[in-house]
Amino acid sequence: MKIPVSEPDLDESELNNVIQAIKSTWISSRGEFIEKFEKDFAQYCGVKCGISAANGTAALHLALLALGIGNDDEVIVPTLTYIATANVVKYCGAKPVFVDSTSDYWCMNPEKIAEKITEKTKAIIPVHIYGHPCDMDAIRDIASDYELVVIEDAAEAHGAEYHGKKVGSLSDIACFSFFGNKVITTGEGGMCITDNEEFAERIKLLRNQGMNPIKKYWHTAIGYNYRMTNIQAAIGSAQLLKINKFLQKKREIARAYSIGLKDLEEKGLIKLHPEMPWAKCIYWMYSILLTEKCSASRDELMVKLQENGIETRPFFYPVHTMKPFLSNEKFEIAEKLASSGINLPSSTKLKSEDAIYVIETLRDLIRPK
Ligand SMILES: *Cc1c(COP(=O)(O)O)cnc(C)c1O
Repeated sequence: MKIPVSEPDLDESELNNVIQAIKSTWISSRGEFIEKFEKDFAQYCGVKCGISAANGTAALHLALLALGIGNDDEVIVPTLTYIATANVVKYCGAKPVFVDSTSDYWCMNPEKIAEKITEKTKAIIPVHIYGHPCDMDAIRDIASDYELVVIEDAAEAHGAEYHGKKVGSLSDIACFSFFGNKVITTGEGGMCITDNEEFAERIKLLRNQGMNPIKKYWHTAIGYNYRMTNIQAAIGSAQLLKINKFLQKKREIARAYSIGLKDLEEKGLIKLHPEMPWAKCIYWMYSILLTEKCSASRDELMVKLQENGIETRPFFYPVHTMKPFLSNEKFEIAEKLASSGINLPSSTKLKSEDAIYVIETLRDLIRPK
């Protein structure tokens, strides 16, 4: 027996779309599903333009390039994120400048941004970590004070809301991933969304080797092959029809964990996945933090869970602690979160009896010192 952290939730509808794509012979980056998926996903987020990409990292890279981020620029990113957020800044020749998290909701702390801004700062990339939105008003206020652009990394937060507005609609360009463990998947895949048609055109140009869209094989910029295939979009179109069902399921799982583990939090042994009053968290991966009052360490607990057939994941290592981005600076909250956080099984295919089993196993293993 094995209960996974996540798994793709696929049925006949993806299969039928893929068959249709293959029968059409349009299996590369042209075909009926691509524009449909782009249009439908942008519309779902309440934004005008969607530009699909080969993966979420490519989408982020394209967004930075389209906004003119280049050599010697500085870009503000949280240190507690998936590595791609920092890597794409480097791809542009720019420097990621790290910011600590909030202990309340684990995202970039807006109060720590201003002190990091220099003459070279051009952009901020808030990351809606584990499905919880960032405080976008606070971030946008700073951005407008210092004339910076904002790129949301919404790879973990499809459908999450900030003051009732969907993430992805709260910045200059927002980027999503459709990797196999994301809220909806295309296998590998990603998308930029924006209300700005000029940015959209620029992204399309860079995605397609910088080729003039009218005069074929006339290249006006150094671009990339970052295109999504029609097969990926075929899968995505089927997935998108089920996104509300997936999100509902994720919230049900979150509710079960929050109720089932509540008294462990009351005893000070753990902290539950937060949801701020202004936020709708989608609990991409429902997570808990272990406190010092707990007898087992985070890593010991994960081993024991594994022995009981329960897969979990540790939080991301803070980016500034890893070789390519190594820094002596302390980011107290992010480091604390990273060393104490665990992602629990959060698949939309998680059976309710399995959720109960995970809760009971956690209750059994998490004890006071
Ligand atoms: C998954 C993810 C990405 C990158 O997406 P890929 O599709 O794997 O390239 C970027 N940022 C965050 C926060 C992610 O979780």
